[in-house]
Amino acid sequence: MEKTQFKAESKRLLDMMINSIYSQKEIFLRELISNASDAIDKIYYEALTDDSLRFDQDSYFIKVATDKENRTLKISDTGIGMTKEELETNLGTIANSGSLAFKTENESKDGHDIIGQFGVGFYSSFMVADVLTVISKALGSDSAYKWESTGADGYTIEPYEKDVVGTEITLKIKENTEDENYDEYLEEYRLKAIIKKYSDFIRYPIKMDVTENRPKEGSEDEYEDFQEEQTINSMVPIWRKNKSELTPEDYDNFYAEKRYGFDKPIKHIHINVDGAIRYSAILFIPENIPFDYYSKEYEKGLELYSNGVLIMDKCSDLLPDHFSFVKGMVDSEDLSLNISREILQHDRQLKLIAKNINKKIKSELQSLLKDEREKYEAFYKSFGRQLKYGVYSEFGAHKEVLQDLLMFYSSKEKKLVSLDEYISRMPEDQTYIYYASGESHERIEKLPQTELVSEKGYEILYFTDEIDEFAIRMLMAYKEKEFKSVSSGDLGIEAEENQNNTDSEESENKDLFDYMKNILSDKVKDVRVSKRLKSHPVCLSTDGEVTIEMEKVLNAMPD
Ligand code: ADP
Ligand code: MG
Repeated sequence: MEKTQFKAESKRLLDMMINSIYSQKEIFLRELISNASDAIDKIYYEALTDDSLRFDQDSYFIKVATDKENRTLKISDTGIGMTKEELETNLGTIANSGSLAFKTENESKDGHDIIGQFGVGFYSSFMVADVLTVISKALGSDSAYKWESTGADGYTIEPYEKDVVGTEITLKIKENTEDENYDEYLEEYRLKAIIKKYSDFIRYPIKMDVTENRPKEGSEDEYEDFQEEQTINSMVPIWRKNKSELTPEDYDNFYAEKRYGFDKPIKHIHINVDGAIRYSAILFIPENIPFDYYSKEYEKGLELYSNGVLIMDKCSDLLPDHFSFVKGMVDSEDLSLNISREILQHDRQLKLIAKNINKKIKSELQSLLKDEREKYEAFYKSFGRQLKYGVYSEFGAHKEVLQDLLMFYSSKEKKLVSLDEYISRMPEDQTYIYYASGESHERIEKLPQTELVSEKGYEILYFTDEIDEFAIRMLMAYKEKEFKSVSSGDLGIEAEENQNNTDSEESENKDLFDYMKNILSDKVKDVRVSKRLKSHPVCLSTDGEVTIEMEKVLNAMPD
C-alpha cells in the first residue's frame, strides 16, 4: 500500500515528539481524551440541533483499554468520527493554531519543556508509541477507514470495518529503554492516575476495565481478581465545582488542556453568578503574548457553553477589545442551543454577561496591581499596550474602566507606576501630571525640556510607546489632574522664577532672535528666551495641541 508523506511542518513536529526526552510524556493521554471529548461534543451538538438524531446519554463515552501482551493501549470514543478526507487533513497535517503557536514559540525556547507542559495534540502519542492506528467511522457515513503511521515515514489509509460511529485509536507502546519506562502506560493504576489528574472534569464517562482483588464469594480468607468496568473521572466540569475544592494546579491543567495558551496563566478568575443572570465562567489572564496577538489574525473571544454543551469556540461578543487577551469559557443555562451568531449578537442575556465579565476582569486586574505587583507588571509588559489602545479607541468610551490600570515609567521611581501612585506623591504646589515622550528612557532623560520639571522635584512619566500620548490625550486628566507634556509652551511652573530676567534678555537680544527666526522661518514659529533651560543651550517646544512626538507618528501614518 502506498504511503503518504507528512507535510514538512508536521514532520518536524513529529521528529520532536519521537525524540522527546521530556519526563512528562503522560500528557499524551490527556490529548487523546480531550480529542475524544471534543468529538462527542460535536455529535451531541448535532443531536440537539437536528431532530432526526437522538442523543442517548448512555451511549456516549470514552473507553481506555490495555492489552499487555500485545503492548497496546486503546482509546475509543463514540464521537462524531472522521471521514477519509478528515483523517487525511486532520491527522496528516498540522493545521491547528495550537501546534503552529507551539512551533513559533519553540524557536526561542527549549522545545521539550513546551511539549511536556502543553502538548501538541494527537502527535504527542508518538512520545510513547511506535505505531499509531486510528479506525474511524464518521456520522452519516457508511464506510469506515483505518489510518496508520509509524511516525517518520508517513501514513497509510485503507477501508476498514467498523459498526458504530466513532473513533478508536490504538497505540503500540514502545519497549522500555535503559532510561525510559514505557511499561507504565500499560498499567491500570498508572493510567487511572493520569486520567484523574488531567481529565477528571471531562463531561463524558471515561471508562476502564479495572481489576480488583476481592474476597472470594463464600470465603473468608481467599481472594480473587475481579474485572469490572469503572468510570474513572468525576465528570463534573471544573466550572461547576466549588472554588474551595479546586487547587491552582486544577486551573492550570484546565488552561493547558483547553489549549488556551502555551504559557502558565498569571491569574484565573472563577465566576459563579446566580441572580437575574445565571452563568459560570473561568477566565484566565495569560502571561505571554500569543504569537499573533498584535496582528489581524488574532481572534478574541471566549468559549460559550449552553448548559454544559459547547456552542461556540470564540464568542467575541463576550469580550471587549481592551480585554481581548483574556482566555476562558462561559456557561449559561439561559441560552438557547439553536442560537445563531446573528441572534446571539442581540441576545440580552449575553449582553448582561459580557458587561458583568468586563467589570469583573477590571476589578481582578486592579487587585492584582495592588496585591501582586510583580505579576501585574509581567502582565502589563505583555498587554499594557492593548489597555492603552483601549483608552484611545471609541473616543475614550472605556477610559473610566481602564485609566486605573495604566502604568508608565517614572523618572523618580525608575520603574512602572500607576497614575494613582503618581498623584499620591505629588507635592502640594504641583498642578499637573508631567510626561515626556521619546524613543527610549535614555533619550528622554537627555531632553532639555525635562530639566526644569525635574529640578522642581516633580516626577515625570516617560512615554516610549507611540500610543502613550494619544491615550493620555483622550484621558485629558486623571482624578482632576491634567496631563502636561514637558515640551508644551506653558509648563505652569516657570513664571514666578525669573520672569524679569527673561524680559530684559528678550529685548536686549531682539536682533539676534529676529535673525534666527528669519533663517528658520519654515521650521519654527518663534524664537524666544526660554525660562526652563538650566544646562542646555536650546530646546524645542510646542504651543499647539499636538506635540513633536505625536507629529512624528501622525506624519508616519498613511494618508
Ligand atoms: P486539536 O485538538 O488542537 O485540533 P489535535 O492534534 O489534537 O489538535 O487533533 C487534530 C484534529 O484531529 C482535531 O481537531 C479533530 O478534528 C481530529 N481528531 C482527533 N482525534 C479525534 C477523534 N477522536 N474523533 C474525531 N476527530 C478527531
Ligand atoms: Mg486535541
